[in-house]
Amino acid sequence: RAAAATTQAILERRRKHVGPNLALFFQEEPLHIVRGQGCELFDPEGNCYLDCINNVSHVGHAHPGVAAAVSTQLFTLNTNSRYLHEAYVEYAEAMAALCPDPLQVLYMLTSGSEANDLAWRIACAAAAAANPDDSRPLHVAVVDHAYHGHTSLCIDLSPYKWKGPGGGGRPAYVHVLPCPDVYRGQHLDGAAGARAAIAEAEAAGGRIAAFFSESILSCGGQVLLPLGYLEGVYQEMRAAGAVCVADEVQCGFGRVGRTFWAFELQGVVPDIVTFGKPCGNGWPMAGLITSPRLAEAFSAPGMEFFATGGGCTAAPTCGLAVLAAIREERLQDNAASVGAYCLRRLHQLQAQHPDVIGDVRGEGLMIGIEMITDPQSKAHSPALARHLKLRCKADHRVLLSSEGPFASVIKVKPPICFTEQQADRMVDAMAAVLAALAPEDKACLAEASRAEVQAVSERHARLW
Ligand code: PMP
Repeated sequence: RAAAATTQAILERRRKHVGPNLALFFQEEPLHIVRGQGCELFDPEGNCYLDCINNVSHVGHAHPGVAAAVSTQLFTLNTNSRYLHEAYVEYAEAMAALCPDPLQVLYMLTSGSEANDLAWRIACAAAAAANPDDSRPLHVAVVDHAYHGHTSLCIDLSPYKWKGPGGGGRPAYVHVLPCPDVYRGQHLDGAAGARAAIAEAEAAGGRIAAFFSESILSCGGQVLLPLGYLEGVYQEMRAAGAVCVADEVQCGFGRVGRTFWAFELQGVVPDIVTFGKPCGNGWPMAGLITSPRLAEAFSAPGMEFFATGGGCTAAPTCGLAVLAAIREERLQDNAASVGAYCLRRLHQLQAQHPDVIGDVRGEGLMIGIEMITDPQSKAHSPALARHLKLRCKADHRVLLSSEGPFASVIKVKPPICFTEQQADRMVDAMAAVLAALAPEDKACLAEASRAEVQAVSERHARLW
């Protein structure tokens, strides 16, 4: 009771002094978390929650190696990157070694948004350098339902935001490839989507300078791109003079198991790779890696580049500790094996509930479970996804999130030290919630979902 009162008091103080649209998970009954370890989070009473959604604490909450590296550095020196320090160079070398040629030049930043913002500036510089006489305005292409960050530019790059609540609609210089929906067999041809976006830009008097895409579409609903999808898009985009940017903010750093970067699953080499969240295990760092040619085009006009926190001494030190943890604890292999185990268990669950689980998909520990109202229509079931999330949290202390155009895809993206026992705890919780659903509950959730999908579809159409 005392803990509940403390939580309530903090909430009230927060309401007064923190922006109201800074959302909390589980808005109605927010979680008050005071400690984390590995894949577990603890409230003030010591209750343990299984964290299946934190793709920032990538190598585990309160990782001792990372915490020690950062704190030691903070006790020694933490200043901006204008002083020569070996850590920045060592991190650049380590990152270059993890990337295919010609991705060899690193810029360090503090957030994924900044990384995508800088990628756009580099793309614009490359477009100007390649065709100095072409004065058409520079346009950009993105994939539907994408989220690329919170700055003004990144909101423009994010249909997820401008089609979402409070969104202002599609900016005229942004062109959108439809989101491939493998489960429903729609929009699978990336090249066709790219050609349409390029034609739309040219009809509007512009030229596309950059194509941004995640390599697995997270906000789009944990969509695994069809094989060859990015290759088709990249070919069309490059022929039109655009630079191809892979946003690996969510899917990079070994999460997908088979490869370090998710773009490698598509067999492509982007011109720029942006990264964030997992690279600092919670320390605010991010960056991009590009080719010497693009770095040169960006530098040639003579404007100096500087970001105060980007590459401050603690950041590359932290980044190196995260890479060491992935390597030494074999966490990429763990993501592959525990991810495969998770998928096996989830497919068994789907076989028990084919009426409401439409699709189970994933690579490593980047997994999506698509909830539907019925297998005939394959209609999205946001109400069931929400029910599942709330009951898993309240009855089992298992934390899940949902994503996708209608928030009907349960998203699993835990720290990549997730164990098979933890995967069992997660799937058992979902199984118990689904088993407790009576036919009339399902009918009720389906009804609510239909109304919700209708309202969201109308908003999407209005803001297109
Ligand atoms: N890109 C993707 C795919 C993301 O998921 C996010 C953050 N959710 C960003 C970019 C922006 O990163 P940040 O919040 O660090 O600015």
